[in-house]
Amino acid sequence: MSLLLLGRWSDAERDRWLSLLQAELPNEQWLLAPPSNAADAAAVEAAIVANPAPGWLAGLPNLRLIQSLWAGVERLLQDATLPVNVPLARMVDPAMNEAMAQTALWAALSLQRGFFDVQAQQLRCEWRQPAQPRAAEWRVLLLGMGELGGRVAAALAAQGYAVSGWSRRPAQVDGVSCLHGDAGLAQGLAQADVVINLLPLTEQTRHFLDAGRFAAMKAGASLVNLARGAHVVEADLLAALDSGHLRRVVLDVFEQEPLPQEHQFWRHPKVTVLPHCAAQTDPRSAASVVRANLQALRSGAALQHLVQRAQGY
Ligand code: NDP
Repeated sequence: MSLLLLGRWSDAERDRWLSLLQAELPNEQWLLAPPSNAADAAAVEAAIVANPAPGWLAGLPNLRLIQSLWAGVERLLQDATLPVNVPLARMVDPAMNEAMAQTALWAALSLQRGFFDVQAQQLRCEWRQPAQPRAAEWRVLLLGMGELGGRVAAALAAQGYAVSGWSRRPAQVDGVSCLHGDAGLAQGLAQADVVINLLPLTEQTRHFLDAGRFAAMKAGASLVNLARGAHVVEADLLAALDSGHLRRVVLDVFEQEPLPQEHQFWRHPKVTVLPHCAAQTDPRSAASVVRANLQALRSGAALQHLVQRAQGY
């Protein structure tokens, strides 16, 4: 049997993944392109993928596992040819969770202390000290309390922030005020000084952050989007910033990536742009996550981090 490694990446990126995966999984046969004949297709036991093109995973009769190297799987799920009965696992990697916690801490701290404004003042040689609210006086709302949102909430709570977290189902996390449902969302949005989005992109959450949700946020609050660009209605966000209702936004993700040169976000004084770098998959640790799931597959143990396709995450 063989393992199929597929991604839309450079040869150098592919080679780095391959060498780390080979170190974790010696003695495997690897295929690095969609099989071109029936014998190769029949030999594929598991596919390890990073945004494969639609159709690349069709016609593999003995495929038993699709392991995504990325955490978000919305693009994979949009592939109408994705085999329906093959388990799909996504990447959950403690190193990625830590990176996300660092990005969220930086954003929350910079917003709380006014450091983004101070940075802008420097360009004008302007000496003005910002207010200094305490962390405990600063409420952060996490939209999404999964692997990433949960870790971020814990990291913020450990720094003394007042933290709320909103998820689909009721949750309980020490030190975090856990909310769910429409009433929980309304309460969370109305109280938060900063809203951090870490929802998955699904049918329910596409364009979730729109004019109505911005209006429900407290006047002067800020938004940090670390999940997917399509969660946000960009025109509504610009309107909420320009009206003064929202104070500032930190965006790591966009409807179109790379963000087009002419996009207003680049030069908007209330927008901080990051190039989708909040938390990248770290191949050094992710390779061992892949090994663990392959071992589970072969030993009959429970597969980890399976996507519930009906709910889209
Ligand atoms: P998880 O699947 O672990 O968590 C998702 C969370 O969102 C859960 O708490 C879930 O609720 C909640 N949720 C889902 N749908 C809804 C809904 N309709 N209403 C309310 N809550 C909902 O995902 P991760 O934390 O691992 O990742 C989140 C996203 O982050 C990824 O899908 C990806 O898009 C993005 N990401 C961004 C990166 C970056 O660098 N910018 C890097 C990696 C990921 P419940 O707990 O009840 O199921």
